[in-house]
Amino acid sequence: MDVIVVADRSELLAARAALGLDGAPGRRAGGAGTLALVPTMGALHEGHRSLIRLARERADHVAVSVFVNPLQFGPHEDFSRYPRTFDADLEVCAAEGAGLVFAPAADEIYLPDRQVGVSAGQMGTIVEGAFRPGHFDGVLTVVLKLFNLVRPDVAVFGQKDAQQLAMIRRMVADLNVPVEVVGAPTVREPDGLALSSRNRYLSPADRATALALSRALREGTRHTRPKDILHAAHAVLDEAARADPPLLLDYLSLVDPATFTAVAEDHRGEAILAVAAKVGTTRLIDNAVLTLSPVM
Ligand code: AMP
Repeated sequence: MDVIVVADRSELLAARAALGLDGAPGRRAGGAGTLALVPTMGALHEGHRSLIRLARERADHVAVSVFVNPLQFGPHEDFSRYPRTFDADLEVCAAEGAGLVFAPAADEIYLPDRQVGVSAGQMGTIVEGAFRPGHFDGVLTVVLKLFNLVRPDVAVFGQKDAQQLAMIRRMVADLNVPVEVVGAPTVREPDGLALSSRNRYLSPADRATALALSRALREGTRHTRPKDILHAAHAVLDEAARADPPLLLDYLSLVDPATFTAVAEDHRGEAILAVAAKVGTTRLIDNAVLTLSPVM
C-alpha cells in the first residue's frame, strides 16, 4: 500500500483532501471517511504495529505521526540519542496499511517565540511525573498540536504508557477535545519484557535484569489486596536490585487508573500496578491492570 508522507501543515491539508476527508469545517462531508491517528516517536516495533492495526479497525484511514518531541524530554534525558529509524518506520506503516505518515521537523511544530502550552496539572506531577518534571506538559502539548494539525476522529495510544493514556483522556475531557481516545494493550516479548524503542540499548545482561519489571508485575497480580500486591512485586524488584547489573527502582505504585493516585487498602475495582526502573543507562517503565475484588 502506498503511504503519503507529509512534513508540514500545507502538505497535510493536501493529503487530507486526497483521502477525501474534508467537508465543511467541523463537519464531515456526506460519505467522507474517518481518520485515526497513531502518534509515535518512531523506531516502530510490534507494539506500534498493533496500534496501527487497531486504528485500522476504528477508522477508514490511518495516519501515523513520527516526531521525537523535544518538549517531553528533560535536560538529562535521552533526546539526542533516541533511536531514529525513519526508512524502516515507513516500511512498517506501509505494511500495516497506514495511508498517511506525518513526520514534521521540530521547527514545524514549535514556533521560536511560542508561549502557550498545555499544563498537565497536579496529575502530571505524580508517579511518572514526579521523576520527569514537565514531561506530561510536553506530551499533552504535542498531542493537542498533533490533533489540531491532523484532525483525527480517533486517536490510539498504548496502555504501556498508562499514565500518558490517562492524562490524554483527562485532557480530552477537561478541554473538550473532539477526538475519541482508544487504549491498546501492551505488546510483550515472549519472555514478558514490554516492547519499547529503548530496549535496543539493553545489553544481554541488562536485559536479564530488566525482566524483573514484568516478573514483578506478574507476581503482584497473583494477589488481590494492595499490601500483598506491593509486597510480592517488591520482593522481585529487591532481588533484581542485587543483580549485576542492578535494577535501580524509581517507583512501584498501585494506583487508580483514572487519577493515578495511590489506591486505599480497601479499594475495589480496577487498579494499575506501575513500575519504573533504570537498568544500566536505560530507563524502563511497565504496568499491569488488576481488578481488586472484595476480600472474603
Ligand atoms: P512512543 O513511540 O514510545 O512514543 O510510543 C507511541 C505509542 O506506542 C504510545 O501510545 C505508546 O504507549 C505505544 N506503545 C509503546 N510501546 C508499546 C507496547 N509495547 N505495546 C503497545 N503499545 C506500545
